[in-house]
Order: sequence, then structure tokens, then C-alpha cells
Amino acid sequence: MAKIHRLDSRLANQIAAGEVVERPASVLKELLENALDAGARQITVDVEQGGIKLVKVRDDGGGIGPDDLPLALSRHATSKIQSQEDLEAIGTLGFRGEALAAISSVSRLTLASNDGDQPQGWQVTVEGRDMAPSVAPAAHPRGTTVTMRDLFFNTPARRRFLRTEKTEFNHLEEVFRRVALSEFQTGFRLTHNQKVIHQLPAGDDATLRAARVARLCGRAFMEQALEVDIEHGGLRLHGWMGLPTFSRAQADLQYFYVNGRVIRDKVVSHAVRQAYSDVLYHGRHPAYVLFFEVDPALVDVNVHPTKHEVRFREQRQVHDFLFRTLHRAIAEVRPGDDGRAER
Ligand code: ADP
Ligand code: MG
Repeated sequence: MAKIHRLDSRLANQIAAGEVVERPASVLKELLENALDAGARQITVDVEQGGIKLVKVRDDGGGIGPDDLPLALSRHATSKIQSQEDLEAIGTLGFRGEALAAISSVSRLTLASNDGDQPQGWQVTVEGRDMAPSVAPAAHPRGTTVTMRDLFFNTPARRRFLRTEKTEFNHLEEVFRRVALSEFQTGFRLTHNQKVIHQLPAGDDATLRAARVARLCGRAFMEQALEVDIEHGGLRLHGWMGLPTFSRAQADLQYFYVNGRVIRDKVVSHAVRQAYSDVLYHGRHPAYVLFFEVDPALVDVNVHPTKHEVRFREQRQVHDFLFRTLHRAIAEVRPGDDGRAER
């Protein structure tokens, strides 16, 4: 056996990147979450060649000061949590301090930012293994622009796992859709190869919300969806649930957010499936965009690196609340109704 030695930090980052960065869409997810955590009110995403060549995310959030820029790219460096208590009640989308380190170890990454304290901004660029990022002045208004180019340029084995431009873009657009549905008070814009794909104005009033959901999930869904907003025992569920008449052959229009984070969870899926079980044919799937709000201390989001999974402390209570709320809403719609009469 060879002697044990420490991996250099770039190599360690590349290995860790495997968990976080699978494809361009995973990069976009992390960058969008960072922009939202920074309090952005406008987020612009530019993508080229399905994101393999370029993923650029610009926000008008709080920005990063010049001293913090290199730190933002290093592993286990975060401004979002400090203590174990913070970890037990996460209020931000990110907290692991891994994403930028991971992405920068497998791409060419530029981070340009202005935290608003100075008239000009600063930027750092790193390319894969190339260490020691140096900070240089750059013109940038308050906010941050992250530019990721040439994903996996230095890890050819992983690059080979990427699919066609079209497939990668579909994954990217799905990530964009999920995030854009989570924060109505932020405007979003997405371009692909310089073509505008989505342009979603900011605004939390009913009209803009409905317009955004219709734009992202289709008009047919909105026309056959029931709007719900129920609060009980510290739990709140609001959003849109598709009427049984809008069932799908695939479970491809199911968005469930826990405190603004899109998740997949067995307890949730089971409660929803049960609620619809009397009204959907076997093999058909309901469609929904639902937002669940719960005390952050009662849900653990630190279950998986991609944070798609959560663990509820009171599983039974959550299950029963979701089931009852959805079941009742469905039952209130009389057969033949389009749902609107009962709103
Ligand atoms: P995490 O989001 O888990 O903290 P990241 O690697 O994604 O880890 O980001 C590291 C740090 O860089 C963040 O904690 C934050 O302070 C800063 N940062 C990253 N993106 C942005 C952004 N768009 N605006 C402001 N700060 C950012
Ligand atoms: Mg992050």
C-alpha cells in the first residue's frame, strides 16, 4: 500500500463537486439560491449551449465585499450560519458553504460583486485547479454576477455524461421554473443562446402571481386549478391544486415548497396521493403548485447535499394537515363544477 497523504484542496473540491454539480442545471440551482439568499429583487439568467458553455446569473442583492470574494470560493465558507443553533433552524436556501467551491473546481468561474459600500465593484476568476484567486477592480452595480463557463472542462470523464444541448436546457429550464415559482416578489428573466425564454415581472398581487404560474405551468393548469389557503395549528398551506379533470399521465407538474424550498418527500407525496385517491383514475397523477409554511425548527433540511429532501419533526401532524386540507378542497368541488364557483 502507498503512504497516506492529504488530497490537495482542489482535488478534494472536485471530488466533493460530484455530490453538488451533476450538470449545468445543478449549477443554476445553486446560483439562483445564492441570489435569493442575497435578497435579490431582479435575477437575470443567461445560458449558452444548454448551460455547458455558459451559465451567468446576475442579481441586485446585497453583494460580496472585496475581502470576502476569495473566501466565497473556498470550501465550508458561508455567511449564512455560524452555530449549531443556526443549523437547527435554517432560514436560508444555502448554508453548507460548498456550492461555489465545488462549481469553481470544475469550471471557469468569475465572481463579480459590489456590496454597495463602494462606487465600484470587484471580481475574482478561478479556473479549475488554478489556485489562489486574485481580486481585481471591476465595474459592477450593487449585487453579484456569477459567470460559469465550460463546465467540466478539466474533468473529461464527467463531461462525457452530459447530454445534448436540448436535454441539458430542459433540465435548466425546470430548475428555473421551480425557483421562479418560489419567490413572486423577485423578477426573473431567462435567455438561451441570446433568445428570451421567460420574462417574469416581480409582484406578489393575485394577478401577477396567477400570470406567472400560467406562464410556467401552462394556461390549462391555471384554468383547472383550485386556489387554496388554509392555516391550522401553526401550519399553512397555500397555492394551486389541479382539479381531478386536469390529471396527468406523469408526475411532472408537482411543485411542493417547504418554507420556499422545493422538496420531494414521502410523507407529502403520500398525503397528496391519498387526498386525490377517490377522484383520480389509477395511474393518473395530480398536478399542483403548493406552498407549505412551518416553523423552521420543526423541519430538518440538512439531510442531503442537494437539499431536495427534508425531515419533518412531526410527520403525523404534517401528513394529516395536508391530507385533510386537500381532501376537503377536492370534496367541496361538486362534480361537473369547474372549481371557480366554490372559491
Ligand atoms: P452557501 O450558499 O451554502 O453559503 P456558497 O458556496 O453557495 O455557500 O456561497 C458562499 C458564500 O458566498 C455565501 O455564504 C454568501 O456569503 C456568498 N455569496 C454567494 N453568492 C452570492 C450572491 N449572489 N450574492 C451575495 N453573496 C453571495
Ligand atoms: Mg449557496
